[in-house]
Amino acid sequence: MAPPKIFKNYINGEWVPSASGLTFDNSNPADRRELVGMFQKSSRHDVEDAIQAAKDAYKTWRLTPPPKRGEILYRAARLLSERKEEYASQMTREMGKVIEETRGDVQEAIDMTYYMAGEGRRLFGQTTTSELPNKFCMWVRSPIGVCSLVTPWNFPMAIPSWKIMPALICGNAVVIKPATDTPLSTYNLVQTLAEAGVPRGVVNLVTGSGPEVGTALLSHDAVRVVSFTGSTEVGRNVAAACAGTFKHACLEMGGKNIIMVMEDANLDLAVDGAIWGGFGTTGQRCTASSRIAVHKDVYKEFVEKFVTRARALKVGNGLDPSVQMGPLVNTSQLKTVEEYVEIGKDEGAKLLCGGERLTGGDYDLGCFYTPTIFGDCKPEMRICREEIFGPVVSIMPCASLEEAIEIGNGVVYGLSSSIYTRNVNRAFQAMRDLETGIFYVNAPTIGAETHLPFGGTKQTGNGHREAATAALDFYSEWKAVYVDYSDKLQRAQIDS
Ligand code: NAD
Repeated sequence: MAPPKIFKNYINGEWVPSASGLTFDNSNPADRRELVGMFQKSSRHDVEDAIQAAKDAYKTWRLTPPPKRGEILYRAARLLSERKEEYASQMTREMGKVIEETRGDVQEAIDMTYYMAGEGRRLFGQTTTSELPNKFCMWVRSPIGVCSLVTPWNFPMAIPSWKIMPALICGNAVVIKPATDTPLSTYNLVQTLAEAGVPRGVVNLVTGSGPEVGTALLSHDAVRVVSFTGSTEVGRNVAAACAGTFKHACLEMGGKNIIMVMEDANLDLAVDGAIWGGFGTTGQRCTASSRIAVHKDVYKEFVEKFVTRARALKVGNGLDPSVQMGPLVNTSQLKTVEEYVEIGKDEGAKLLCGGERLTGGDYDLGCFYTPTIFGDCKPEMRICREEIFGPVVSIMPCASLEEAIEIGNGVVYGLSSSIYTRNVNRAFQAMRDLETGIFYVNAPTIGAETHLPFGGTKQTGNGHREAATAALDFYSEWKAVYVDYSDKLQRAQIDS
C-alpha cells in the first residue's frame, strides 16, 4: 500500500508544514482502517503567520477592482465543476455521506463561487438626496480586513465556500480552519482558489484543533471579522472571545427543526420529505428534520408509512451509489446517538424502529447506526428539544396547527421549519408564526439555494445571514459619503 499523503497548510501562497512538524490522521468513517490523509497539527505560531500574510495581502487585494476579483472566482468555479466527481468521492471518504449528497455539497460551492463572482460587477450601494443644494450623497461598501473562518465537518466544501467567496469578493483576506474530521474538502477548495489565481496571502488554510487553532484565530488583534459555523456550545465561546475587541461575528449554530404534517397533507409526499429530511446526511445536518408534529387524524397512517420507509433504507458505504444512508462521522458522534436513544427510552418515548448500531461484516469497520424513529413523544422530552445530530427522528401527535406551531417554537433553536398542507391560508399562517430563519411549504426542512439568505434565529444564529446579498452585508461595511460641489461653505454643514 502507498503511504498516506501528507497535506500541508497554505500560508502566504506556499504549502508549508506546521511549525511543530506534527500531523493528525483523517480516516474514513465507513472503514476506519482507511487513512484518507495526514494533516498539519498547527498551533498559535502557524495562525500568526497566516494572519500576518492575510494582513499584508489585504493591502493590495482591497484595491483590486471587484470585477477582477470576480474573474478569479469565475475561474475557480469552472475548475471546481471540472473536478466535481473527484472532490465528491474524496468528501464521501473523509466524512461518510453518500456520493449523491457530496456531489450536492461540491455543487453548492460551485454555485456560491459563480454567484459571488457575479457580485463583483454589482456590490451595489445607494445614492440619495441631500438637505443642501449642490450636494451629492451616497453610501458605498468597504472591505473590512482580515477574516477568521471556522467551519464544521458536515458540509465541508459548501460551508467554507459560503464564507470565503463573499469575503473575497468584498475585498477581504481570509484564514480558514476546517473541522479536524474534514480538512481534505476545504484543502481542495483552497487549492482550487490558488490555481485560479488568488494572490498570495489572500486565502490561507491552517488545519488543527478547535481549542488550539480556533482559539488563536479568534483572539488575534489583527482579525476584524469572525465567521463561525458549528455547535451552539462552541458558538457561545466564540461570541465571548470576539466581544473583547469588538470583532464582527457571524454565528451559525445548532438546530432542532420541525416538520408539521396537517390532516389535509399529501401524506406520501410528507413521508418522502420526512425520510430525506430526517435521515439525509445520516441526520447530521443543522437543518435535519429531527422532529415531526403530525395531526392526530393522520398520525397512525403517517407513522406506519414512515416507519416502513425508514426500515427499508439501505445503510452502508456512501461510495456505493445504491446506499441511501452512510455512517456517522466518527465514534464520538456514534456514542452521542447511542446515549440519546437511551435517554428517549428512559423518557418513555416509543421506539418504533432502529435504536441500535449496525454490526457484522463491513458494518464492523465503521460508525454505522440504524435509522431510528421514536413515536408518541412529548415536546418536553430531551430527544424533542436537544440537537442529537444523528439518524433519530421524534414524532409528536398534535390536534391543530396552533398546537404544532407552539411545539415548533418550543425549543431554543430557530433554524428551519416546514409544513405539509394543501391549505394556503394555513401555510402562510405557519410561515408568519414560526420563529425560524428558513421555512418550507410541502418540502422538508433541508435544501438551501445560494441566492437566498441562510441562517437561524434564537440560539441558532446571532442575526446575520450567509449566502445571497445578505453575506455581502456581513463582509463589508457601509461608508456614508457626502460630496459638496457648491464650492462654498454651506451653513448647515457647520450646524450639524
Ligand atoms: P463544533 O462546534 O464542534 O466545531 C465547529 C468548528 O469549531 C470546528 O472547526 C472546530 O474545530 C471548531 N472549534 C471547536 N472548539 C473550538 C474553540 N474552543 N474555539 C474555536 N473553534 C473551535 O461543531 P461540529 O461538530 O463541527 O458541527 C456540528 C454542529 O454544527 C452542529 O451543532 C450543527 O447544527 C452545526 N451546524 C450549523 C450550521 C448552520 O448553518 N446553522 C450548519 C452546519 C452545522
